[in-house]
Amino acid sequence: MSMFDDIPVDVGVVYEGERIRGKDMQFEFGGPNVEQKFELVQARDMKEIEDGKIIIQGPDLKDLEEGKSYPLGILVEVAGKEIEKDLEAVLERRIHEFINFVEGFMHLNQRYDIWLRLSKASYKKGFNSFQFLGKVLTRLFKSEFPIIEKIQVTFITDPKKISEWYKKALQIYEARDARARGMKDEDVTEFYGCVLCQSFAPSHVCIISPNRISLCGAINWFDARAAARVDPKGPNFMVPKGELLDEIHGEYSGVNEVAKQKSLGEVERVWMYSMFGYPHTSCGCFEAIAFYIPEVDGIGIVDRGYEGTAVNGLAFSTMANQTGGGKQVEGFNGIAIEYMRSPRFLQADGGWNRVVWLPSNVKERVLDAIPEGLRDKIATEKDVTNTTELRQWLKDKGHPIVKQWKEEVVAEVTEAPAEAVYPTAPTEYTLPQVTMPATMAAVPGGVPVALLQGVLQLPGGIPGAAPGEGFQLIFKNVKIKVDKLIIKREEKGKK
Ligand code: SF4
Repeated sequence: MSMFDDIPVDVGVVYEGERIRGKDMQFEFGGPNVEQKFELVQARDMKEIEDGKIIIQGPDLKDLEEGKSYPLGILVEVAGKEIEKDLEAVLERRIHEFINFVEGFMHLNQRYDIWLRLSKASYKKGFNSFQFLGKVLTRLFKSEFPIIEKIQVTFITDPKKISEWYKKALQIYEARDARARGMKDEDVTEFYGCVLCQSFAPSHVCIISPNRISLCGAINWFDARAAARVDPKGPNFMVPKGELLDEIHGEYSGVNEVAKQKSLGEVERVWMYSMFGYPHTSCGCFEAIAFYIPEVDGIGIVDRGYEGTAVNGLAFSTMANQTGGGKQVEGFNGIAIEYMRSPRFLQADGGWNRVVWLPSNVKERVLDAIPEGLRDKIATEKDVTNTTELRQWLKDKGHPIVKQWKEEVVAEVTEAPAEAVYPTAPTEYTLPQVTMPATMAAVPGGVPVALLQGVLQLPGGIPGAAPGEGFQLIFKNVKIKVDKLIIKREEKGKK
């Protein structure tokens, strides 16, 4: 007999990864259409909660209208002699996994950013109350974590009550994040890993260090350490640092070994502090994406909540498709907002000195982490809307990246072979060196051309074109390695 016989739909690992499209959903909770939503686990004293109790504050599933989006708060309270506060975050992250076990229920993201959908098919089968979801959570938590002696689950759909809890939840998340801020990667002998998201992204391995919180933003070094101790067979595990191979890029022999083993050979090297070369893999739960902007040789950040297109003309969802899946994608890196506060934030790529654009709400959130002299030099959607405007803005504001452009131009003019500069009237033109940002050209394995969606400017313009006139080559969603570029001019009437 299954422990879910009284649930009207099936429950099991097989449903993890199930996607529910808009046309198939009965209704959804949270997501981009809802401002306030959260999920939270809190450790309580044994006397404070009632084991197995499920509370619904506000309308239940059967009271909701088909096709609509609703706010939702999920509060899971746990108690037990061995339950410590340190475990709250990792238990909280398992809500994602357990809800996804329910046939026809989809759960995305975490903390203040959750997005759930119930399918029409499961609703028709009778899944019409949060009571069922509460029972699933209660039973799965207790069977996976025997240290939980009591568990109580509350679902909040009443917007007023959500509002009260939402503020508290944000303060709790902030207090958790603040704990690891004073620590450095060199202060500890081991990091921790997480492979919870391998159900969606099979080669993804999160490496969690004091200076690099998990990219979902939900698990810091303390949380992962506590989880690895109480649940050694679970998704969190210790990662011995091994030898420090590269201090700037954050490459450790122990991290490389574990990443290779846990990704089944897919990932061989990890640079923890860089989005180029061997970047940390990205699953799909990242809070934000750091993306390279070739037109200005800078880095942009876009968060999951940002609506509209980023300065490179791409929406978060478009970039997320390219970034996620457990791959190492040079020039796109899934990150947590908290990582932007780290002293190791993209250190090998220039850190904050390389950041040129981010949404205004993110800028506001991390303003205190941005070096003071840079705060008014990093543009938001309120300042510029495309890369041409961004380029001008950076020049006007004297962003440090502008100095980098000048250095590159000087180096290019000095080093370019004679035939690359102003050939008189060639019918075939071989370009030995294309203008590329120095950092990208230096990336092992070539340029991350998935990103080449910018202006490729020939030094001095095109032969036969007016002085100063350039041209654009636009590559979209392609991966090309360029060793040599041949440009032919077609004369009228001739092929
Ligand atoms: S993003 Fe990383 S830390 Fe967060 S749940 Fe997924 S694998 Fe674990």
